[in-house]
Amino acid sequence: MKVKTNNVKQKSVKQIFKRSIQHVAAALGRHTRTGKEPQLLTLMYHRILPQNDERAKIEEPGMVVTPETFRQHITVLKDYFNIIKLSDWIQLKRDGKELPAKACAITFDDGWADNYEFAFPILQELNTPATIFLVSDMIGTNEIFWPERLARLINTISSNYPQYWSHPDLAWLQKNPANYLISETPPNSEEISALIASAKDYSDQEMHDRLTHIENALQLDTGNRSPSLLNWQQVIEMVNTGLVEIGSHTCRHVRLNEQTPAELIKKEIIKSKEAIEKHTGQTIKTFCFPNGDYSPLSLELVKQNYIGAVTTQSGWNTAGTDSHMLQRIGIHQDIAQDKTSFLARISGWV
Ligand SMILES: [Zn+2]
Repeated sequence: MKVKTNNVKQKSVKQIFKRSIQHVAAALGRHTRTGKEPQLLTLMYHRILPQNDERAKIEEPGMVVTPETFRQHITVLKDYFNIIKLSDWIQLKRDGKELPAKACAITFDDGWADNYEFAFPILQELNTPATIFLVSDMIGTNEIFWPERLARLINTISSNYPQYWSHPDLAWLQKNPANYLISETPPNSEEISALIASAKDYSDQEMHDRLTHIENALQLDTGNRSPSLLNWQQVIEMVNTGLVEIGSHTCRHVRLNEQTPAELIKKEIIKSKEAIEKHTGQTIKTFCFPNGDYSPLSLELVKQNYIGAVTTQSGWNTAGTDSHMLQRIGIHQDIAQDKTSFLARISGWV
């Protein structure tokens, strides 16, 4: 009993300390100052989903922000930044023109349908530009990325077919170092994150192949769900408002690292640009490296084909930052649900 009380005390002391740091960071962080050099803060969002939406339940916590929180973020950003399209900032820099003292670019990775459903109306309402990075071959299809596929599979088995956990085809999943003990209790979002992180040892194609094999072997109903990703009609409608610009996030969300064959890297970088340009009629100027992975070859090819690119490295950018290795600050609900925690997050201090 005593131990429990101490734990609770320790936890609340920790929380009070964290909150104090957040208040200091929110009041004094980089967003409050004007540096000698122009600054670019680039924010990385993924999905915008209401709290109780079914789609949020099998998603990693790092992927989601609610519409209310997203609206609040934009309102707060407008107090400190000139919000501009990512490619506009890069183009101004290329042309040697004057850059805003403090600019912010809002970006969304992957091209989720919820960006159209929940983020786009807010962007319109607040007249705010943003960039969405699309995975060209998956737009308008019923496909999903392997992390969501893996999460769905684990959820389906835990909820409906726990007897399958002893199936030999699932042995490799049980061997991974994640803390989730395979059971009848579906994993929580942190456990899903840990399982996904441990599965990143496999290549993207290998993961899809393994998941297809399991789904077939167990004859699981993977269902005809409504598409998770945007379709071209939605993309074009957003682009036509002039508020949303599109960038490439490859053809099939392949990680472009040293293990990826050169021909595949080339195809993912060049063909995705061609496909998006064909559908939107726009020149696609920016690129986003899946999972933040890149190799010397992929960086070189991106430099040849795009005016700029973003990574998942955390930080702010200045006029001196390489336009093809722009850093971002990842935003998700847990760490940015009120003004103070959001400002503390973008300050880069916590
Ligand atoms: Zn992605």
